Amino acid sequence: MAVSEKIRTSIENSSLIRRMFEAGNALKATYGNDAVSDFSLGNPDVDPPEQVRKILAEIVAAPLPRKHGYMPNAGYTEVREQVAAYVSTEQGVRLSRDQVVMSCGAGGALNAALKTILNPGDEVIASVPCFMEYGFYADNHGGKLVLAPSAPGFDLDVAAIEARIGPRTAALLVNSPNNPTGRIYPEKTLRELSDMLLCASRKHGRAIYILSDEPYRKLAYDGAVVPSILGLYPHSIVATSYSKDLSLPGERIGYIAVNPGADDAARLVDGIILCTRILGFVNAPALMQRLVGRLQGASVDVEIYRKKRDLFCDALTRMGYELTKPQGAFYLFPRAPGGDDAAFARALQDERVLVVPGSGFSSPGWFRIAYCVDTAVIERSFSGFEKVATRLRV
Ligand code: PLP
Repeated sequence: MAVSEKIRTSIENSSLIRRMFEAGNALKATYGNDAVSDFSLGNPDVDPPEQVRKILAEIVAAPLPRKHGYMPNAGYTEVREQVAAYVSTEQGVRLSRDQVVMSCGAGGALNAALKTILNPGDEVIASVPCFMEYGFYADNHGGKLVLAPSAPGFDLDVAAIEARIGPRTAALLVNSPNNPTGRIYPEKTLRELSDMLLCASRKHGRAIYILSDEPYRKLAYDGAVVPSILGLYPHSIVATSYSKDLSLPGERIGYIAVNPGADDAARLVDGIILCTRILGFVNAPALMQRLVGRLQGASVDVEIYRKKRDLFCDALTRMGYELTKPQGAFYLFPRAPGGDDAAFARALQDERVLVVPGSGFSSPGWFRIAYCVDTAVIERSFSGFEKVATRLRV
């Protein structure tokens, strides 16, 4: 037996997306990259801001002692201070470096946080549609993901979340702006959520955490404001990265910020630091820490993505697709014409257009477009979207 039963099952369960990915590679090998419109991956096409190259060159050239050496598991003190100062302004809650742990991307941050808070059999709630790795992340640490439906327009359904809370509930994963819907949860909903979770925490005698997954926070359009979770709910942890807003996903750099008002916040941070170490991350990448420390608040030009969103939304709406215009991130989540998302994605594939069926996000009947690609790729896909919509609707 080459792999464990559990991993074999996991490979099979994530095969839908893998099949799309492999089919896309086969199409590209046959027809060439330029003949395929690939919207399957959230891999930013916008170059990192110019300062990234400049600052990185300075860091590489600087004669710093033990520049590539081990460091405290939480990250460089100076960088944690820089991040804490920025997060204090961004979230409106005063944080010190003692509440910040540098991480290997948002994925590393979520895993370190979940390992810290989960007892075996504990539950983590997420609202669907949601990022497909959440189930694996909870399972990595003995937890179980419990899914709650969303409200119309993909807002959080606070009553549906409440109905799923029980004595095993350890946390709620919140992702805003959302992958795959692009929805930003309004402050009113988050206030209701916070009130409900405070009551539920009291009722069950344990702090139920909000784990706020925020890699798209800076990618918000039309002046939309992403409300601060740390300002609204005490038992909250932000897990985030520079993968999307600085276009650095391959560099694996992010951080965790713990609300100083959380129960036993210092112990929580100690746990996250330990878990960063024993998960084998040890610490976040050294050069990247020094880089992002100096780039607090910086971001790629969000207008580039906003224009792509508008181009796509206008075209699909004209073709009769049903969609809610996203307020942030770089994804669209329209309804699949004909209702069968897998059949729709296969039909689009025949037109050399690749999307991810909503089933991959526990939301059959929908599909995801990642529009972080060149405008020419978007434009050449329109005829395929039009043909398939017309065919599947009749
Ligand atoms: N959370 C969400 C909602 C994401 O979409 C992603 C990546 O696409 C991640 C977490 C992981 O981000 P990172 O690459 O920084 O680990």
